[in-house]
Amino acid sequence: MARLPVTEESLIEQYGPHLNETPAGGWGAAAEADKTVKTHCCFCGVQCGIQLKVKDNQVVGFEPWEEFPVNRGMLCPKGVKRYLQGGHPDRLLSPLLRTENGFQPASWEKSLDLVAEKIRAIQAKYGPDSFAVISGASLTNEKAYLMGKFARVALKTKNIDYNGRLCMVAAGAASRKAFGIDRAANPWSDLPLAKCVLIAGSNIGECFPILTDYVWRARDNGAKIIVVDPRATPIGRTADLLLPVKPGRDSALMNGILHVCIERGWIDRDFIEKNTNGFDAVRETVARYTPARTAEITGVPAASIERAAEYWGTAATAMLVHARGIEHHTKGVENCLTCINLCLATGKIGKPGSGYAMITGQGNGQGGREHGQRCNQLPSGRDIENPEHRRVVAERWGVPEAEIPGAGLASTEMMEAIHKGEIRGLLTICINPVVSLPDAAYTRAALEKLEFFGVIDFFMSETARHADVVLPGSLQEEDEGTVTTAEGRVVLTKQAVTPPGEAREDWRIICDLARRLAPWEKFPYACPEDIFRELRRVSQGGPIDYYGITYERIEQEYGVFWPCPSADHPGTPRLYQGGKFFHPDGKAKFHAVEYRPPAEDVDDEYPVILTSGRVVSQYLSGTQTRRIGPLVRQYPDPLVEIHPKLAAKAGLRSGDLVKVTSRRGSVTLDCQVVKTIRPDTIFIPYHWAGEKSANRLTIRALDPVSKIPEFKVCAVRIEKAV
Ligand code: SF4
Repeated sequence: MARLPVTEESLIEQYGPHLNETPAGGWGAAAEADKTVKTHCCFCGVQCGIQLKVKDNQVVGFEPWEEFPVNRGMLCPKGVKRYLQGGHPDRLLSPLLRTENGFQPASWEKSLDLVAEKIRAIQAKYGPDSFAVISGASLTNEKAYLMGKFARVALKTKNIDYNGRLCMVAAGAASRKAFGIDRAANPWSDLPLAKCVLIAGSNIGECFPILTDYVWRARDNGAKIIVVDPRATPIGRTADLLLPVKPGRDSALMNGILHVCIERGWIDRDFIEKNTNGFDAVRETVARYTPARTAEITGVPAASIERAAEYWGTAATAMLVHARGIEHHTKGVENCLTCINLCLATGKIGKPGSGYAMITGQGNGQGGREHGQRCNQLPSGRDIENPEHRRVVAERWGVPEAEIPGAGLASTEMMEAIHKGEIRGLLTICINPVVSLPDAAYTRAALEKLEFFGVIDFFMSETARHADVVLPGSLQEEDEGTVTTAEGRVVLTKQAVTPPGEAREDWRIICDLARRLAPWEKFPYACPEDIFRELRRVSQGGPIDYYGITYERIEQEYGVFWPCPSADHPGTPRLYQGGKFFHPDGKAKFHAVEYRPPAEDVDDEYPVILTSGRVVSQYLSGTQTRRIGPLVRQYPDPLVEIHPKLAAKAGLRSGDLVKVTSRRGSVTLDCQVVKTIRPDTIFIPYHWAGEKSANRLTIRALDPVSKIPEFKVCAVRIEKAV
């Protein structure tokens, strides 16, 4: 049965009249703007520079910011349309309290008092850790720092974590294990210098479109481009070599490529000897990954594996970049470690045009994981279980070390803790777990079990609908603060407008709440820059040192790369130069990885692999981009991508409705038959909620180290819907 075509009326019915909204003030308003504000696009970790045009305290348009070196004025579809969300009618304008008659507006005093009272009551009854906080990786560094301090100093709970747990934590954990620090090794400006670029599990053309320009500049300079992906994404279709790996088999593939490099002598023995530990164990392990065996596991032809090794191993310079495609797995950390092993063994790290980077998906995916809002981490990457790290932070916060709680639960573990009654109250900011966590039905049921649930957000998200109190926070352009881009460059997002109605800047809300629960002097900030000054002081001498970075320098220098330990330090765009790593002995560590299968593999009952990801017009759970009319038009509903062979077996054609069922639930969506996916795999984008949610199907299995969920592989069956 074919679904009715998407019409203007059906779109307006689903998304509201704002679908066709022109910018506040009309299309001509931008020309008459009161001011132009240099800031950054909020919709991915590239953080392209953009100038927002403001009239009457509303963002009415934009101009390219050509001097900002990362994107030189270029923007992708999301960047071009980002300014349209501000005037949306769904914008939360006052605090809302749940009543028998639905949500009702309330004063800030009453709402904040209620939240504080509920926190105290739950903690008095069940203990401090019974109240949890989940924060966001799209928040500025200042807010990320504040959320960690708020949880540990004001709430004294160990249970604070963030939604980067759904995103980059596998890459971060692998980098810390291998290099002793968690940051992309090279600036993007190194990409065009590479003679080989290996892109593993990253749909760059849709998820980080501006980086495509860097890859193509490398290609124009003679680089070979290798893409590892079960789908021939736009970047894969222009690559020299596409390795269509079977989802969940990436570690075997990287072992196989390294096997060939070692066998053919394409490794750097001198570099290995001087700058690394642990190579022998890796060599022994990858010896078992012959091209034939690797091909059998991964579905990638042996000849392609050998070709990839040749391109990488014989190139004078090479960069390896990866994203969620290899990170969203129960062995996400292991997958990343196998990528790092390849870089280390061939000495392709810490040099111009040679290195390694993870492409963070969220706006502040890098900074969001640096400043202490993670369950196992204090600010500046300090370890919450390390006595010396705890002592330094306690001293700089002016609290007894014993009062700082230990490691808590990851956000992906908290839903289970709620089901078990270990967590009774929750405050979230800038996260939409009903859409973004795996196994959506389980998440919804958990939120309904809470004795109290408070949400800080700017739109009434699917998650906020479950809350007892909703506090209206700020859009990115309504607040100020720093963000650390995917390449490790600290940039400044400027406040272009003040929040509308009674909405407040997020940092004010957190401080207002913190001061109800802790002495005022622990949260004395009058502006985001005050928070940043404290963040810098706390970071001094730590693993992630921001001490030399100031708002003034950021503006003058188009961002500053950390580590930057002093005012006269130039910042560090490229890490590991001269083979200097961040482990105590100065060496990098190899990690031998044996391939293991996904948590849920296919069987007779569920014979098809489901993998999920993004489309170019949407961002994360879609809270913002599903409210920007022109982006909605671009890709109104999730489509199930199916290879013609699989479609033929199921009797499906493009436009048919296909029912996809996993052990967790099912969805019925439009089918799109494409040749650009493996015949054993289907793809569904995850930005939608409710009956369109891909996460009704996904599995809650977690990586044991990073606790990232296995979004990229689960078993499903498909059938034509009637
Ligand atoms: Fe925004 Fe990322 Fe697109 Fe740049 S590439 S415009 S930061 S979404």
